[in-house]
Amino acid sequence: MSDKNKSLIIFDFDGTIADSLPVIYKTGGEIIKDYTDDNISPKEVEKLKESGIRKAIKKLNIPFYKFPIMLLKIQVGIYNHIDEVEPFPGIEKTIQDLKKDYRLAIFTNNRKKTVNKFLKQNDLDFFEFVKDNPLLRSKDKKLSKMSKNALAYVGDQAGDMKAAKETGVLAVGVDWGLDSKGRLERNGADFIAENPEDLNEILKQLV
Ligand SMILES: [Mg+2]
Repeated sequence: MSDKNKSLIIFDFDGTIADSLPVIYKTGGEIIKDYTDDNISPKEVEKLKESGIRKAIKKLNIPFYKFPIMLLKIQVGIYNHIDEVEPFPGIEKTIQDLKKDYRLAIFTNNRKKTVNKFLKQNDLDFFEFVKDNPLLRSKDKKLSKMSKNALAYVGDQAGDMKAAKETGVLAVGVDWGLDSKGRLERNGADFIAENPEDLNEILKQLV
């Protein structure tokens, strides 16, 4: 099959391809501490990323004008530590296998520059494009723009499932990232992959 006739599968990055959540919690937590007196647990950092910029500002009690700088510092921190991050075990093989039948892309709230650095350092150059959303706008609007001919969005968080549903592509949840299987299902997951081989099985059925 020529490449242009293949369907597109779009992947989330953090918690789906990259086991980056510990680095995000650590880097984010340290930087947020400089901006707020509130105690924020490291796990809440990723939740804030998910909840969108307005809610995050409100919750953290940080002056609006300081937020973009804080966000940028966190993103630069993650970039500087991305060499400590590994792909989830088995995900590389799944991606290589899927590449035979699909076009692959990444849509992430992380920065494109960080994702590209990670892909390069892990020989994961199988993606047609990487689109980012570094200002944490709602994922569904941007996803719908790139999802023409897309079959599925694969992600680890409730927001990923919601964005997929809004856009009208299949919502495939992975059970090795941030949100539980139950939460993914409650937010519209059509399929749940318990491990990367599962993901391969699920997506192969759809070719
Ligand atoms: Mg994620």
